[in-house]
Amino acid sequence: MAARPAPYLDDLNPAQREAVEALDGPVLMLAGAGTGKTKALTARIVHLLNTGRARSNEILSVTFTNKAAREMKNRVGAMLGQSIEGMPWLGTFHAICVKLLRRHAELVGLKSNFTILDRDDQIRLLKQLIAAEHIDEKRWPARQIAALIDGWKNRALTPEKLPAADAGAYNHRGGEIYRQYQTRLRELNAVDFGDLLLHMVVIFQTHPDVLEQYQRWFRYVLVDEYQDTNVAQYLWLRLLAGGHRNICCVGDDDQSIYGWRGAEVGNILRFEKDFPGAKVVRLEQNYRSTPHILAAASNVIRGNEGRLGKTLWTEAEEGEKLRLIGHWDGEEEARWIGEEIESLQGGTRGVRPMSLDEMAILVRASHQMRAFEDRFLTIGLPYRVIGGPRFYERLEIRDAMAYFRVVVSPDDDLAFERIVNTPKRGLGNVAQQKIQTTARAHGVPLVQGARMLLAKKGLGGKGATELAQLLNGIDRWGRMTGDADLTHMELAEIILDESGYTAMWQNDKTPEAPGRLENLKELVKALEQFENLQGFLEHVSLIMDNESDDGGAKVSIMTLHAAKGLEFPAVFLPGWEDGLFPSQRSMDETGLKGLEEERRLAYVGITRAEELCTISFAGNRRVFGQWQSQMPSRFIDELPEEHVEVLTPPGLYGGGYGAARPSAGIEARAAQADAYNSPGWRRMQARAREWGTSQPRESRTTVIDLDAVSSFTVGERVFHQKFGYGAVTAIEGDKVEVDFEKASTKKVVARFLTSPDD
Ligand code: ATP
Ligand code: MG
Repeated sequence: MAARPAPYLDDLNPAQREAVEALDGPVLMLAGAGTGKTKALTARIVHLLNTGRARSNEILSVTFTNKAAREMKNRVGAMLGQSIEGMPWLGTFHAICVKLLRRHAELVGLKSNFTILDRDDQIRLLKQLIAAEHIDEKRWPARQIAALIDGWKNRALTPEKLPAADAGAYNHRGGEIYRQYQTRLRELNAVDFGDLLLHMVVIFQTHPDVLEQYQRWFRYVLVDEYQDTNVAQYLWLRLLAGGHRNICCVGDDDQSIYGWRGAEVGNILRFEKDFPGAKVVRLEQNYRSTPHILAAASNVIRGNEGRLGKTLWTEAEEGEKLRLIGHWDGEEEARWIGEEIESLQGGTRGVRPMSLDEMAILVRASHQMRAFEDRFLTIGLPYRVIGGPRFYERLEIRDAMAYFRVVVSPDDDLAFERIVNTPKRGLGNVAQQKIQTTARAHGVPLVQGARMLLAKKGLGGKGATELAQLLNGIDRWGRMTGDADLTHMELAEIILDESGYTAMWQNDKTPEAPGRLENLKELVKALEQFENLQGFLEHVSLIMDNESDDGGAKVSIMTLHAAKGLEFPAVFLPGWEDGLFPSQRSMDETGLKGLEEERRLAYVGITRAEELCTISFAGNRRVFGQWQSQMPSRFIDELPEEHVEVLTPPGLYGGGYGAARPSAGIEARAAQADAYNSPGWRRMQARAREWGTSQPRESRTTVIDLDAVSSFTVGERVFHQKFGYGAVTAIEGDKVEVDFEKASTKKVVARFLTSPDD
């Protein structure tokens, strides 16, 4: 068959081309960061289409995030030179499994409109079960049991298959709770995240006809980021590719960063055993980063044992060395990075001007984001947060979505529980208990139980009237989902208005209420991209990133985990401090496993950078409201001196940013210690004390000394983490009375106050 010309092949190096053209049989592409694995995988899809080997709906391609899936779809379109609508099976494991499970839900005792529970729902459910079992929740917190169950699901263990050692967890109750939890989920017609894969594995294992159907249908299977698959995902893949063995996996053992979530890097090593005769392709040329960046990354990862080991080289120009800088605290770090970003954007940094889209801040822990978000909001720097369902985690959003859920599937008990008395309808614990009892007695969902309760007049007063109104509403809105004249955005507004939910916030006088109303508007806006409420709810439960995009350029902020597979010309890596990165947990662990995973994370971080990479740390950080002094990360010692330039912290030695000190690695730690011991620093501290604060004025965020008695003066403008800006009205010892702009007058502890910027 004559294939159409294939310009996409010309863009590949010989090794990549080999991997792309070996269409039949198992292929493993094992290579370091930035060597074009994802690019080759994408070209492979295009090649399958172009040579007519498969239609777009016969290719199963698994990516790690929704964002990656979108990008791959776009790239396939670009390479083919035409837009492709029909790649329905390109997505994350979860997204693909939701679709499959909706088709076959009845095989595991579910209905096809099952609900996907989020973490909160999951915990609530477990709490109920734990209480029913008379287990002391304090000893065995629901979260801990949830983690245990997740772990079992990641290993594809159903309650029946649980090995004795596991089932014996929690004083021999663990296995039992798991079993009950699964039963309850089925009754609720619900699944949790782990179930999506687990149910599909079970279906494939117990229904060979279904498996065969998909083995035939998915003629080719492709998997990106294979190093991070867990056992359940691995089994699922092996089952699907078991017939034709046309499976191509790409990965990098050095980038395995989801061990804590059950990923098994061993899956990569097992590939050749599972698929004998597999073609293994190694790529060595890196097309992403400058030699300095590559050398630094390679040096850091060298600290890990038991690696497969890879050589990486690049033809890129040398570029700028990595830069390392220490700051007084996290706010200062955020302020400095904000300025750096502005000067990069403005072209005043001595390198080419860059768009905000070209820059990213990659943090180890999501709580680090707050300092950047606050700072960027203050200076009006557009940013987006990628990788956290932050918006959708907000209270009002979760409430609103619970309403939508009840409307879409009225037997969603957890959603109903959430909204039945929000806003207050006079349906307190007693009334809710009655609904529960009635529902349970008849084996029906709560909505129906509530109806029965009303019918037999088991509830009186205001509660009864309001409940009847709510139930009528649910009915009516449900019918409206089928109304062709009504968009689902309009319906969403109707639901929120008629239920009294919007009014609840309109009547609320707390400072947060206006923001919450804004968020609800935002939510309705977000619906626009979807066909209906159900599609939207599905999206939210799967969502990995939440960019609200007005099209303008923005700096990206995300965790290192979320940055996997991405690349940016300029990357900032803040918070390289022992206890934060590497995390305290990994440092406390016996053995090196945790620490090695952190080191891989460092490798992932550095290798995201194309041209500029800036690593920073802070000497002090506020953790859960307490100031803590920090030591620079041990990974900083592993940066090779000749590839790093150490910058002087602003405000020290009167040096400014430009004054570089030619030292790195161990010396950098010394440089920091020395910085804080230097005559210059001490002089500044003395000056600061004169001013009544412990921090030099040179840095614009002023930190109040922990032990100091209040150093504020009446009338001074201050900032409080929780209450915002205000003016000091009185001082008593370490307590300060503040008239807050957005809250009332409050007495707060001085150390929780800072002087506002400027
Ligand atoms: P990671 O391990 O971080 O996921 P990767 O191996 O998947 O990296 P890609 O993202 O596919 O690497 O490629 C890295 C960069 O190199 C991309 O910008 C890509 O376009 C470019 N690239 C890959 N292969 C080539 C090539 N043969 N010629 C030119 N550029 C290439
Ligand atoms: Mg990749």
